[in-house]
Amino acid sequence: KEPANENYVSKFDVLQVYKPRGRFSHKGNYGHTLIIGGSYGKIGAVLMSSEASMHAGAGLVTVFIPKCGYQTVQTAFPEAMVVTDKNEAYVSDIKFDINPSVIAIGPGMGKHAETVDAFHQFLLQNEKPLVVDADALNIISENKKLLPYIKGRAVLTPHPKELERLIGSWKDDFDKLKKTKLFSKENDVVILIKGAYTATVYHDKVFFNSTGNPGMATGGSGDVLTGIIAGLIAQGYSLFDAAFVGVYIHGRAGDLAVLRSGVEALTATDIIDFTGDAFLDLL
Ligand code: AMP
Ligand code: MG
Repeated sequence: KEPANENYVSKFDVLQVYKPRGRFSHKGNYGHTLIIGGSYGKIGAVLMSSEASMHAGAGLVTVFIPKCGYQTVQTAFPEAMVVTDKNEAYVSDIKFDINPSVIAIGPGMGKHAETVDAFHQFLLQNEKPLVVDADALNIISENKKLLPYIKGRAVLTPHPKELERLIGSWKDDFDKLKKTKLFSKENDVVILIKGAYTATVYHDKVFFNSTGNPGMATGGSGDVLTGIIAGLIAQGYSLFDAAFVGVYIHGRAGDLAVLRSGVEALTATDIIDFTGDAFLDLL
């Protein structure tokens, strides 16, 4: 049955849209995620997004990073393919000759002037589904004229500060939700309000998440979420379904991880490690 416009997401909502794997399927059935980002000292963000994307089921994962991250990513995550920028320390010219099913952009990317230019060019030059996170969101917030280029094809994953830069400040949670819905409608994008009970918003539709815990308030947690959502889009989930399912799985992985680590010690990498258990838990 059609879920209501406002929904508190349970396992059963996830199972409504969950795509089990066919016995005779091959990696080409599960799409190809491209993750773009990273800068000197922040290669870990892209690394975590890309690992999470494959743990969420993407058939192939390629990362696009500045040269300085090459060895690290190839060593830490041998399943990934790596394409490097011409620049050593930051993204300066986004060029690749693969045909990804979805592109996630922003984690660890920074806002060097050349990165900002490269991001502008990138938006003009491709029409792929996007997951827009972190500094890619901040660049858009600083130049709202970029919004038409992501219309109809993006999931935006801001944390509270990034959301405020994007939609302006709010009086209270009701006002925040109202402004986020309006933003989603005006720009035709799926957008998250991250935090406890993360909301996935598309026009007037709002799904509140039921999983997750304060142990997930830790550096890299959002990068993992970005990768999971991109991995789901790669496998053919719609933007909205990928967003709310990704948020649910990310939170569930955090809830399983915290049983081992406790809230203080939980790390973003733990969330990746428990992504598989979160999927198993659906069945
Ligand atoms: P970021 O700030 O981009 O690293 O994203 C943080 C991630 O952790 C988001 O997915 C949040 O929903 C999640 N998170 C942070 N704090 C909490 C919390 N108190 N309860 C549940 N999830 C949280
Ligand atoms: Mg983040």
